[in-house]
Amino acid sequence: MADSDSVGDSGGPPELCDWCGRTWRNGVLALVRDSSAVHAHDPGKDGKRLIVACSALHLAQLQEEYRQRPFINEELWAWQIVRALTGVATGATVDLIAFATGLIVPQIHRAIAWRNEQLLHPSDPPNNEAQ
Ligand SMILES: [Zn+2]
Repeated sequence: MADSDSVGDSGGPPELCDWCGRTWRNGVLALVRDSSAVHAHDPGKDGKRLIVACSALHLAQLQEEYRQRPFINEELWAWQIVRALTGVATGATVDLIAFATGLIVPQIHRAIAWRNEQLLHPSDPPNNEAQ
């Protein structure tokens, strides 16, 4: 994608607006803070979500929605743990998780407690489910 905030002139297939779902060819995009977003391979991009919209108005509405959503560190850490453990055999220790994620042990315990609380009280589920 281009470095600018305008996208869609590549001639590829149309994309969908994250706000209204319409297809567009000349949309706009932005990065927003989102504790449910972890990058597949680059921890430096964790906590940031790329949003795309068909218009500046819909982009602004999306940005406001993400501004209203609390950024929950425990949620981010939980997803970082999920990423680190993907493909790892069962029986990972806290020390292994700490090594793989760069988190410290208290952060891991808080992330696990947060995730357990989400599983027990799913009335406010995270945006993404465990993979
Ligand atoms: Zn739209």
